Amino acid sequence: MRILVTGGAGFIGSALVRHLICNTAHEVLNLDKLTYAGNLESLTSIADNSRYEFVQADIVDQSTVSTLLKRFQPHAIMHLAAESHVDRSIDGPSDFIQTNIVGTYSLLEAARAYWQGLAEPKKSAFRFHHISTDEVYGDLHGVYDLFTETTPYAPSSPYSASKAASDHLVRAWHRTYGLPVLLTNCSNNYGPYHFPEKLIPLVILNALAGKPLPVYGNGQQVRDWLFVDDHARALLKVVTEGAVGETYNIGGHNEQKNIEVVHAICSLLEELAPNNKPQGFARFADLITFVKDRPGHDLRYAIDAGKIERELGWVPEETFETGLRKTVQWYLDNRQWCRRVQDGSYQGERLGSTDIKDLLA
Ligand code: NAD
Repeated sequence: MRILVTGGAGFIGSALVRHLICNTAHEVLNLDKLTYAGNLESLTSIADNSRYEFVQADIVDQSTVSTLLKRFQPHAIMHLAAESHVDRSIDGPSDFIQTNIVGTYSLLEAARAYWQGLAEPKKSAFRFHHISTDEVYGDLHGVYDLFTETTPYAPSSPYSASKAASDHLVRAWHRTYGLPVLLTNCSNNYGPYHFPEKLIPLVILNALAGKPLPVYGNGQQVRDWLFVDDHARALLKVVTEGAVGETYNIGGHNEQKNIEVVHAICSLLEELAPNNKPQGFARFADLITFVKDRPGHDLRYAIDAGKIERELGWVPEETFETGLRKTVQWYLDNRQWCRRVQDGSYQGERLGSTDIKDLLA
């Protein structure tokens, strides 16, 4: 297959692209705007592969996307490009509306025009796979409740509201125009190459730097953590074997309170990096600092991933213990990637990119 991946320089997108190049024979065109969250240094291991190409472009720019579709002739689009950080959406929702809603609309329109021009059997085989989040469902209050594919939408933050809107658009393009879509809603991901504004990498890097480990409110918020490579495997299953028009929830069966996650990281650092402990602190956990809670903070998310397990045979390979150990070890072994993100130098690179002007010429 030829697969157009949007947002392939981000955290999950880069894991998906590495998985597609390393473990399948598919060809990948990675279309990414390279916002602060896009990092081509997460793709250096596959950048020279002849089945991989990168182009810097904005999904809002429908005519460029249409030209790229015509040229690349994909069998599937896997749409991950998004603004994804809840705190940033609270401080400035505009980019979230623009990319997550307007951008998804533009991409859908470009995809629809391309798909309508395809001849059979390629037309029937085409897939538009929209990658979304469990945050569209709002939060759970019962201890045993789980999000299913039919849980009503009740997003809390500008981020989750913009993702909910994009999900509705994708379903409407299927119902109204027949575009062959698939949707996935996944729980919190963690793993290598995660931008250090998110909880797990932030805690690891702050602990190693002797900085406070900020925990919102009382740290009792529950998240269902999934190792990012398990998500990438699930996405490949869905795009190749999922039923058109269907939604699949993806989750790790790994519910943890935020404070438990922070303590688990501290324990792993005690074991894996005992000599990196900041001076004057007996334990990494002594750096934990409770800070004012995020407005509208959801209390609990947990996914019922039974449908994808039953219908497509996907189950996560990593437990939280094995995945978190791999993650902490990766951050210890890849300090240069971290340093270049932290000092901003990663944004100066456009490794292996095809110039958009050459493509449009
Ligand atoms: P990320 O923020 O790490 O990466 C997003 C990528 O999209 C970046 O490379 C960025 O440059 C690119 N991008 C942003 N705006 C763009 C635009 N207008 N045009 C083209 N590219 C653009 O995000 P992530 O954590 O990898 O998440 C990927 C997708 O998965 C998102 O749609 C997100 O909603 C969803 N998701 C994330 C999680 C999670 O835990 N991180 C969980 C479930 C679902």
